Amino acid sequence: MKTMISVEEAREQILGAVSPLGLEKVNILDALGRVIGEDIHAGRDIPPKNNSAMDGYALRAADTRGASPEKPVTLKVVEDIPAGAIPTKRIEAGLSARIMTGAPIPEGADAVVRMEDTRKEEGRVAIFVDVEIGRDIRRAGEDVRSGEKVISRGETIRPAEVGMLAALGRSFVLVHQRPMVAVVATGDELVDIDEPPTPWKIVSSNSYSLAALVRDCGAIPLAVGIARDRRDDLIAKFRAALRADLVVSSGGVSVGDYDLVKEIMQEVGNAMQFWRVAMKPGRPLAFGSLGNVPVVGLPGNPVSSMVSFEQFVRPSILKMLGHKDLFRRTIRARLDERIEKTEGIRHFIRARIQREAQGYAVITTGEQGSGILKSMVRANGLIIIPEEATVVEAGAMVTVQLLDSSLDWSPVPGF
Ligand code: AMP
Ligand code: MG
Repeated sequence: MKTMISVEEAREQILGAVSPLGLEKVNILDALGRVIGEDIHAGRDIPPKNNSAMDGYALRAADTRGASPEKPVTLKVVEDIPAGAIPTKRIEAGLSARIMTGAPIPEGADAVVRMEDTRKEEGRVAIFVDVEIGRDIRRAGEDVRSGEKVISRGETIRPAEVGMLAALGRSFVLVHQRPMVAVVATGDELVDIDEPPTPWKIVSSNSYSLAALVRDCGAIPLAVGIARDRRDDLIAKFRAALRADLVVSSGGVSVGDYDLVKEIMQEVGNAMQFWRVAMKPGRPLAFGSLGNVPVVGLPGNPVSSMVSFEQFVRPSILKMLGHKDLFRRTIRARLDERIEKTEGIRHFIRARIQREAQGYAVITTGEQGSGILKSMVRANGLIIIPEEATVVEAGAMVTVQLLDSSLDWSPVPGF
């Protein structure tokens, strides 16, 4: 019997076999959530010209000295400058221009007085306030200076970056390609979702949960379908999967039992390794490559395949997408029930985390069998109980790996 390897060893080997994919040019909206593959330097000043931050009057600050509601200063209004218009007149001493927010500041003017601090008169304006130079003027380049680096290679594009790219006139940008990830289910007991399930057959839910996980990571699932536990079919399905950048299979990798899947993987694959990982669920795991395409053979049980995907495949996909942060966030939470476990194995226990006024509380989602998919449906995290532990008492603090962002919007009690 082969020795067990740790979760870290397995993860290191798998991550070592994948690298960020090449770059492609996409529309900036399609770049949302993707990793940018180029530094973005501003090709222009933003804003391009000094412009007004308010609706009001552009004037020379010196002309407003001593102005107040009781003793207004009156200036001649030489023109009206709506947003987008080009000023045509120079503002000399004693002159002003009516100006709207965003409109360019006319030459000679060095301040704007807000509309509410003025009163319109025939061809003139009464100014009620004394303003300093620069008041309510947005300076050219105050947001971004031409030449400045505003987005760095390796950053993830969020709505703010999309806006910045648009402001700089970039409609396309280079991002890392999204990997295509083939999902191969194996098993004679499986039927597809719309086939009539005879009583002794089960729907290949893994085909869908794994494809959903692939998509959730930002990659493209390639549904190869169900391979029967037969030589020709297994070979055909694994061959079809070769179009992908990564292959994920489910089933047939259990250590100990005779399984055709392993035999075929060994035959069509390179350097296939069949591991016993010191974890539960998800102990059996296969890893190698088909041609140049890395392949991860996940166990068949619905919970095992998802938990193993989370630990090994998700970080690999994120790495291929160019991300630097590859792992799910973990938090510390108070465990509200007693847990017993096997020594020497890391347990990933499906759990429901709740936010409290101070910190977090966590309970298991009940029955933890690797076929109990409902335990995943109810879970928003996985309690990680380290190898050496055998029992964790209620009230202890535990580490929980978050499976989704549900905690981000759960209200804090008492606030
Ligand atoms: P295996 O690892 O092939 O021995 O599969 C273990 C168990 O997982 C099987 O007995 C099935 O009940 C279940 N299983 C395997 N493949 C799938 C699948 N694609 N979808 C849902 N359950 C599966
Ligand atoms: Mg099987």
